Amino acid sequence: MTLVLVVEDEPQMVRTLRINLKVRGYEVLAAPDGRAALDLAARRRPDVVILDLGLPDMDGTEVIRGLRGWLSAPIIVLSARHASADKVAALDAGADDYVTKPFGMDELLARLRAAIRRAAPVEEGVVVSTDAFTVDLAAKRVVREGADVRLTPTEWHVLELLVRHSGRLISQRQLLREVWGPSYETETNYLRVYLAQLRRKLEPDPSRPRHLIIEPGMGYRFEP
Ligand code: CA
Repeated sequence: MTLVLVVEDEPQMVRTLRINLKVRGYEVLAAPDGRAALDLAARRRPDVVILDLGLPDMDGTEVIRGLRGWLSAPIIVLSARHASADKVAALDAGADDYVTKPFGMDELLARLRAAIRRAAPVEEGVVVSTDAFTVDLAAKRVVREGADVRLTPTEWHVLELLVRHSGRLISQRQLLREVWGPSYETETNYLRVYLAQLRRKLEPDPSRPRHLIIEPGMGYRFEP
């Protein structure tokens, strides 16, 4: 049974989540603040964490940092904060996804299923296929309609990072740091250029991308 740790201080929200999760067969633990969350997580090792950012004793981002040193379970952040800086901070701290309150339960459950599904990391040598193209991480090869797609080394590096974190939102800062280096963390125009190039080469309809997804102001996501 999948164990979900819900970290949330609003009793009504905890009740709603508990009911909806239990009905779908999840086992639910709840913590009302950051300290209890860290303690419960250490004792029970949840498979996935749903975490409200606004907690009474510490900021949710601090909880993420506290968990990330030793817990690899996906963390889905819930927050009433709409500012992209807060979302980026949560992602940079190690959150896997971000749902803004108020949210639909169906949306949250879909994100939860996706997070659990991809919790197993993409291994070296794995081939990731979409309906439009195939990425062979070991051979560093992309095939579309039976033909190799020529990518520049930088295009490949961007694509590889996104594919290795398939389904997960990667912040702009993280991509820039990993591909170009720490001094390029604010050069978001680089990403726009390279994502546009990758979409032209890979997406069946580059103006309506289905695999190389941009979350405005936050980051990028590869959807297989
Ligand atoms: Ca709260």
